[in-house]
Amino acid sequence: MKNVILFVLISFIASKSAWSQSKKYEVYALKFASSSPPWPISNWVDKGPKDDSVQIDFMIWLIKGNGKTVLVDAGFLNDIPDAKEFDIVSYIRPDSTLQKLGLKPTDITDIILSHPHWDHIDGLDLFPNAQVWMQQDDFYYYVGAAWQKGGFAGGFNKRDVRKLIDKNLAGKLTLVNGDNQEIIPGIKVFTGSRHTFNSQYVLVETGTNKVIVASDNIWVYYSLEHMQPAAAGGTYDPAGYIKAMQRMKTLVTNPRYIIPGHDGKIFLNFPAVKEGVVKIE
Ligand SMILES: [Zn+2]
Repeated sequence: MKNVILFVLISFIASKSAWSQSKKYEVYALKFASSSPPWPISNWVDKGPKDDSVQIDFMIWLIKGNGKTVLVDAGFLNDIPDAKEFDIVSYIRPDSTLQKLGLKPTDITDIILSHPHWDHIDGLDLFPNAQVWMQQDDFYYYVGAAWQKGGFAGGFNKRDVRKLIDKNLAGKLTLVNGDNQEIIPGIKVFTGSRHTFNSQYVLVETGTNKVIVASDNIWVYYSLEHMQPAAAGGTYDPAGYIKAMQRMKTLVTNPRYIIPGHDGKIFLNFPAVKEGVVKIE
């Protein structure tokens, strides 16, 4: 009898671990717009070089597997006035980029919102079926205190606040309570960079590796390579921003698998599966 119990127990443990090992995803970066002129790195990195430049691109990230088709962030619609200062070229509406991978906007099951800046949230209404995941402190600041006396609404657009409220009213918003949360099996979110009030980044199990979609918790590679925080306005907490990058390095086998939010170099660093689409592997 004891042996039977032991056998059942071992089988149970084996099946549990097989189950968790089956949560493997593919991760892609999809470019939907570029800023036309190269930018001085000093605009993006605190104490970064003025005489060296970075190609600023706009992208969304697709995480696919286990019956889920997840986006990190939703991009923006090209009529948003905030885009003007970036001299946008090669714009494709974010939902249209999905066609390159044979997907429709209605296929998106979830959107993990790293933070609510216009270039990451404005495309929210393009994906009607998506359940949206956002840090609760980021949400409350975004819809509330940001617009009060003494609040800071830089990078926030009122029409996006309304889009987010509509998602909530439709029962399609889940607020995440803080750091190190596995929101979907094999997909965790972390906080600490404070790009916005409480921005989050995403860790994905891909089988052979883990991938971090940092989004704007790291703006460009230079920050990660030199462990320098974002330039002014890029974080509420420069020390926390550096600590978060150090922590990210401990979560992946190689810093190559940490993906910044706006650095065009990513499209050279990984194999292209289509024009403007790379697979992070
Ligand atoms: Zn951004």
